[in-house]
Amino acid sequence: MSNISIQSVSKRFPNGFEALKGVSADIAPGSFTIILGPSGAGKSTLLRLMNGLETPTVGSVCIAGEMLGKANLRKVRSRVAMVFQQFNLVERLSVATNVLTGRLAHRSWAGSVFYLFRNEDMDIAREVLARVGLTDKAWSRADKLSGGQQQRVGIARALAQRPKVILADEPVASLDPVSSEEIMTLLREICDRDGITVVVNLHQVDLAKRFADRIIGMNSGKIVFDGSPEQMTQPVLRTIYQREGIEDDNSLDMALAYA
Ligand code: ADP
Repeated sequence: MSNISIQSVSKRFPNGFEALKGVSADIAPGSFTIILGPSGAGKSTLLRLMNGLETPTVGSVCIAGEMLGKANLRKVRSRVAMVFQQFNLVERLSVATNVLTGRLAHRSWAGSVFYLFRNEDMDIAREVLARVGLTDKAWSRADKLSGGQQQRVGIARALAQRPKVILADEPVASLDPVSSEEIMTLLREICDRDGITVVVNLHQVDLAKRFADRIIGMNSGKIVFDGSPEQMTQPVLRTIYQREGIEDDNSLDMALAYA
């Protein structure tokens, strides 16, 4: 059974804009998938549908065979962790406390409200901070860290959830090339070593080609390519990055430069 199954999903926002138009994909457990495409293609909307942050107008999303809906949202969110472009840390709190918030999905309402963490949670926080190489920063304020380190905290928080799936929405878009490389390597290693299904939204062709098992190319709310990095040729890149009515398009030039 596939881990994530997206079946004929369309998404129309209240303003009438249709961000996804009949998208279907099955994502295998333990795989590393990159969703590639220009800004506005619908990548973020697709990712947000996979943990119930958005609901489809048409179609359905199943995680481990269970259709996502209001009734099982909490359960699904405890298994599907999210990593964000802007890290989404609580800046004035310590690194360790930020990581511990990853445990909230597993705690009671009262425990969540009063931020009561058990010893078991502290052990998990220690373990995941070691995993991302930030043991010595555990009690630093989150906003004192570099961008790359903050994203490591974001990943540690995701790991603290003990997820089956990690969804990363443009996780390196705010980082320099060296940190980007480190974060992609870390995500890949988490997939390989822990068997966690990882889905990453990216707009950088070079990173997609180097790190993905599978690339899903999106343009204007549709999947226009679905294959291995080797299959992503220059004509395919043109299809992914072409924009109607724009002849002198920077994003297409940049994409082709890496092909
Ligand atoms: P990407 O992640 O590929 O940049 P998004 O999924 O963020 O694309 O957005 C796809 C399109 O949907 C964009 O044109 C965006 O402006 C639009 N969009 C996203 N969220 C909303 C919303 N809440 N209401 C209306 N339009 C939206």
